[in-house]
Amino acid sequence: MKPGPGQQFAINIWEINEEFKRINVNLHIEWVPGHCEVKGNEIADELAKEGAKEGSIANKSSPYTSIAFLKRRVKELCLIEWNNQWQKNKKGKSYMGTPNLRRPKPLDLLPRNMTSTIVQLRTGHGYFNSYLVRIPSSGILLERCNCSPNPQTPKHLILECKFYSQQRKKLREDLKGLPLYLSTILYASRGIKALAGYISNTQIATRPNSSENPGYNRRVGWGRLED
Ligand SMILES: [Zn+2]
Repeated sequence: MKPGPGQQFAINIWEINEEFKRINVNLHIEWVPGHCEVKGNEIADELAKEGAKEGSIANKSSPYTSIAFLKRRVKELCLIEWNNQWQKNKKGKSYMGTPNLRRPKPLDLLPRNMTSTIVQLRTGHGYFNSYLVRIPSSGILLERCNCSPNPQTPKHLILECKFYSQQRKKLREDLKGLPLYLSTILYASRGIKALAGYISNTQIATRPNSSENPGYNRRVGWGRLED
């Protein structure tokens, strides 16, 4: 079951909150109707403009983060959500391989096989056990990953798989402040760039013996099948 737009947004906020909790930051959220001269809204807008002028990002020595900084995050999340919905609604399963002018630029700049790996991670149809187990000729009988009893899904390979904790550190660095969660990594520009590095370093979700991957290392492949 796929969550609806509102639900997805709630999930995103929940994930941000989890991320904040991890670094001992308390998040307080209140619903404020937009575009209607609500005093707090206007103040927030003003502060955001000021913050943007100064180019200030969260100041590590201060316990407060700038509203501009948070606003940019929210904007990024909205964009991610929009992208998500757009793909689901307009393209669905035919998205793969279909020319699409509105595809995010960073995806276009990547080599073709990298683009298709990222699309496969997005759609959940690709070289990972959660999908292969549904394909009789794949020879994959169990959904689980070799690192744990957990299913080897795109989310697992990107965020959780124990085999790639080293590479995940680099991924986190490459996200440059964006929170480490799936929708950001799969849909935000900076996320996609960081993900491409992660895929190169781990060879996750990459077809073994692929002629498109001459440098493919057989040992790592589908979550390191041989480990
Ligand atoms: Zn794993």
